[in-house]
Amino acid sequence: MDVEAVARMLLERRAELQGELSILTAVPRDPMAAVSFGKRIGDGTTEAVERLNRVGAANAIAATLADVDRAIAKLDEGTYGMCDLCGEPIPAERLEAIPSAVLCVGCASKR
Ligand SMILES: [Zn+2]
Repeated sequence: MDVEAVARMLLERRAELQGELSILTAVPRDPMAAVSFGKRIGDGTTEAVERLNRVGAANAIAATLADVDRAIAKLDEGTYGMCDLCGEPIPAERLEAIPSAVLCVGCASKR
């Protein structure tokens, strides 16, 4: 396994995720202008749904980001590729598919 290549990939992924997260959690500069612009009956519902979607997406990205951070820490610790819960090796195919995986398939399904 090329640890440096994996580290580079994870750091790039982390930067990407941080960028997406900052866009999703950004507060509009003028919230009142955003609300009153093009206001029609029913828009309030759409806005509420949109806000919930953004919160859901932001939470999903934050969870992935936590995994990426953990995977980077594991590279430093020298435990990369070992399951954080049971300590068993994570299959290479799984790491190739999900380089930020910190749990084996069995433990991940229980999370
Ligand atoms: Zn495990």
